[in-house]
Amino acid sequence: MSSITHELASAIRSINDYPKPGIVFRDITTLLGNPRAFRRTVDELVQPYAGLKIDKIAGMEARGFILGGAVAHQLSAGFVPIRKKGKLPHDTVRIAYSLEYGVDEMEMHVDAVKPGEKVILVDDLIATGGTAVGAVQLLRQIGADVVSCCFVIDLPDLGGRKKLEALGVEVRTLVE
Ligand code: AMP
Repeated sequence: MSSITHELASAIRSINDYPKPGIVFRDITTLLGNPRAFRRTVDELVQPYAGLKIDKIAGMEARGFILGGAVAHQLSAGFVPIRKKGKLPHDTVRIAYSLEYGVDEMEMHVDAVKPGEKVILVDDLIATGGTAVGAVQLLRQIGADVVSCCFVIDLPDLGGRKKLEALGVEVRTLVE
């Protein structure tokens, strides 16, 4: 494990049996609250995209907003919120998706991305990939060019990265 991977991994708290028995919840609030770990996380997420002229960062509610907002600022890109249904005020596109622990629907504004704009999707963690696959499909529905997806944490046994790669999307993660 590299020193950065070790530093980030040790800043993440694991909570057993949350939100359901059998789930180990990877809690990044401890990482976000640690100034050095938060900065290093954002720096590591941003570094591969420097100079790529990214138009928008899309982030999933809610932890994707925190990381995605910081990444967007660093890349001088816009930010696009992808939210649970019913939270966005203007016309939306909507998709149903499955989670490691449930089923839900997510939405984004129809005019959040212009056709052909280069978008990177950011979230804290990829597990089964249901959330990220849904988000990529939603972005593609309105014509986005999804160039990459990045996550702080990958749970490789749950296969999410492979599902995204099967859609032809590059995937970058910091910690397994
Ligand atoms: P999935 O759609 O299965 O890839 O799940 C990813 C989404 O659910 C992300 O937005 C995560 O924040 C959340 N999530 C799923 N599993 C966990 C976990 N074990 N710990 C923390 N967050 C999780």
